[in-house]
Amino acid sequence: MYTLGIDIGSSSSKAVILEDGQRTVAEAAVQVGTGTSGPSRVLEEVFAGTGLTRADMAFTVATGYGRFSIEGADKQISEITCHAKGIHHLIPDARTIIDIGGQDAKAIQLDSRGNISKFVMNDKCAAGTGRFLDVMSRVLEIPLDKMGEAHFRATEVAPVSSTCTVFAESEVISQLSKGLPRENIVAGVHQSVASKACALAYRVGVEPAVVMCGGVAQNPGVVDAMEKELGQSIIVAPHPQLTGALGAALLAYETWKKEHQA
Ligand code: ADP
Repeated sequence: MYTLGIDIGSSSSKAVILEDGQRTVAEAAVQVGTGTSGPSRVLEEVFAGTGLTRADMAFTVATGYGRFSIEGADKQISEITCHAKGIHHLIPDARTIIDIGGQDAKAIQLDSRGNISKFVMNDKCAAGTGRFLDVMSRVLEIPLDKMGEAHFRATEVAPVSSTCTVFAESEVISQLSKGLPRENIVAGVHQSVASKACALAYRVGVEPAVVMCGGVAQNPGVVDAMEKELGQSIIVAPHPQLTGALGAALLAYETWKKEHQA
């Protein structure tokens, strides 16, 4: 039997199809989120070439900020629960999860059974989230997927001291106009995101293994800055943007099994 996990975030739409709660049949990500064509496009993409349709899904769980906008989902579950499920499945030793998404960042502490013991979230401010990096990538004229390479070319870190994204953007523009190397500014931008994400992690307590997920975990520059700030190594979850959708598909399987054993 097949289950579907759909994660509709503020910045991207993700979907995973699982067979028997084990094998990933298909996965897809579209880089636009709730309120856009993202949700319908990601569903089209995830089913393409599988020979399956939504009617073949025994159970569907929707998660993410836009989870209540998905028609036909059997259940909605918060992204914190879904990320925790997905990460525990992939990396059973994970005790601290840092998830940096498009508009929020979360730190989650897990016990050895994968249960959530604590979590904290920043969804009040763009600083320390993907949105901050999106703004900086545009100002620096470096595509998001090249920010990591630029980071590792930095000769020193040009700190970004403003805590507000709008002021930080002006600060970066001023650094650029002074002729500071763009790579050094990128390293400063990453350090700024890392210090905010790590502050969340300190609030739940940082216990190894520390795992990063969410779209920003695809940026090795942020991961490097976080490792330096925490003073310990971080495991980047495989396909980090998809762990919420994976967790949703796993929870869909567990829910279906419970309902059919009763
Ligand atoms: P949400 O679930 O909140 O919609 P995601 O977890 O998908 O957000 O994260 C979106 C963020 O991931 C974007 O704001 C962007 O900064 C970052 N991102 C997306 N793709 C890449 C990439 N290829 N390289 C680096 N960062 C990326």
